[in-house]
Amino acid sequence: MKAAVLRNNRFEIEETEKPNLSRYGKGAIIKTTGCGLCGSDLVKIRTGKAKQGDVLGHEVIGEIVELNTDTSFNIGDRVVLGHHIPCFNCVYCWGGSYSMCRHFKETNIKPGGFSEYIYVSEEHLINTVFKTDINISDVEASFLEPLACCIRAVKRAKLRDNSQNLVIGLGSIGLLMGESIKAYGNNAYGCDLLSKRAIYSKEFGFNASFKYEEDNETLKKMKEYVPEGFDCVFLTAGSASTMDFALKAVRDGGTILVFSSVKDDLKGFTNNDIYYRELTIMGSYSPSPADLEDSHELIEKKKVKTDGISTVYPLEKINEAIDDTISNKIMKAYIKL
Ligand SMILES: [Zn+2]
Ligand SMILES: [Zn+2]
Repeated sequence: MKAAVLRNNRFEIEETEKPNLSRYGKGAIIKTTGCGLCGSDLVKIRTGKAKQGDVLGHEVIGEIVELNTDTSFNIGDRVVLGHHIPCFNCVYCWGGSYSMCRHFKETNIKPGGFSEYIYVSEEHLINTVFKTDINISDVEASFLEPLACCIRAVKRAKLRDNSQNLVIGLGSIGLLMGESIKAYGNNAYGCDLLSKRAIYSKEFGFNASFKYEEDNETLKKMKEYVPEGFDCVFLTAGSASTMDFALKAVRDGGTILVFSSVKDDLKGFTNNDIYYRELTIMGSYSPSPADLEDSHELIEKKKVKTDGISTVYPLEKINEAIDDTISNKIMKAYIKL
């Protein structure tokens, strides 16, 4: 089967061995129809976390073509999925930190979704695989996992109803975060260095969006809408300097939710801000099966807007898709198999 294999930090389209049920055991073989290119795929390549020879991609949509299972799935089912599964029975899972569970980190689909076929285990079928309605397009369906990540962040932030929130970074994840914030009955404001993104986000129903100029100018504009500052600031931009701005934009007693990795970590520690202003600074990483289920429901009921976010590329053009994502020419790539 064809797969995009990582060689010298670029992808080569190669003939590889098709995953096979007799070797892996119970589960399903899914014929991939498409797979979203995630920011985390790019981080894995950049940081060397992805090894040469790896096949990446986890935002998969496809069709079950082989099956050995006690679940109610059938051959021909069109499905979307999450790639990691918590054990539900460890200190991390008991505390609700499902994405910290060691089993969660070890489980995965085989290989990644930038290939013609993948294997998912019986455990995946039970916990993280969902049938998709025919009225949902492949690209819409492929947002299951990234939207679930945002839903988890919104739940973790424990927002009060009608709260005022700021999303810093209005790329694909920033837009999905705004959709999640609104889906849970709250207000979303946006901020980005690129004016085209600030403008585009308005189509997604942000209450208002701001092109970042410099701290005081931008804060002044924000305070016209939210004088006390934001209840929660979500950081999706992947730049450490956004934390400094978030500390100014958040209200006293508010929350800053960190939602992306950064190249150069912060050196200082904001001890006195956290103490005197009673701030909560927290992270949210990856989704639990319950978050995936909620995401699936929002997508199936068309309660979130995702159209216009992705640009479609054939598998053969995956390197171009990566370049266009990094250069901000596009917001997000969807790789069609
Ligand atoms: Zn992802
Ligand atoms: Zn666990």
